Amino acid sequence: MHDAQLLRYSRHILLDEFGVEGQQKLLAGHALIIGAGGLGCPAALYLAAAGVGRITIADGDTVDATNLQRQILYRDASVGLPKAAAAKDALGAVNPEVEVVALGERAQGPRLDALVAAADVVLDCSDNFATRHALNRACVAHRRPLVSGAAIRFDGQLAVFDLRRADSACYACLFPEALEAEDVACAVMGVFSPLTGTIGTLQAAEAIKLLAGIGTGLAGRLQMFDALHAQWRTVRVQRDPDCAACRES
Ligand SMILES: [Zn+2]
Repeated sequence: MHDAQLLRYSRHILLDEFGVEGQQKLLAGHALIIGAGGLGCPAALYLAAAGVGRITIADGDTVDATNLQRQILYRDASVGLPKAAAAKDALGAVNPEVEVVALGERAQGPRLDALVAAADVVLDCSDNFATRHALNRACVAHRRPLVSGAAIRFDGQLAVFDLRRADSACYACLFPEALEAEDVACAVMGVFSPLTGTIGTLQAAEAIKLLAGIGTGLAGRLQMFDALHAQWRTVRVQRDPDCAACRES
């Protein structure tokens, strides 16, 4: 690390658990963020500010006026721009040292597979079950830790699946693919603005801990946050031996 980096990251380096070594791991790390919406915006901001060396962010949408209430990477002038490109500009302004790869697409199939294989940690900041399950399958196949977040109305969820471990549960152990869950869109249900910040920021925290190799992760637990009544609940998550997504892994 050069002097400017030692200064920029000094408040991490001062943490005993982190130190120069932890920061160096972050600088060498590569995070993949799927979705640059309410969760992806705060997650990406913290990963960039913290100095994660490479951030790939994928989203096929353009910024819409209704996004500005919670998608904090975007400004009034961003409306109409592709989210991934606008996100890259905003992250570059926060920390020009970070390499940001912006993909203006909804990654799927072999493309998604390659993106996951190239990442050290994967953040699911998407808003639909098709993407969540495809991303989970790719993380199972490539044994990449998956940090999953969700936020709708006043209800948030956070879970980590450390798929580097053979005994880890996967997203589908918790929410089976066969469960014909219907996507509930923010457009219909509404979403409490700071809830997305809360969950997205916690996704960044878990991803940074995974990259730096510090602390105890959330793996094996699901946290649920009721923002309306300020209540947290934690439940254990166990591997489903019959899970269609991770059974053969
Ligand atoms: Zn599973």
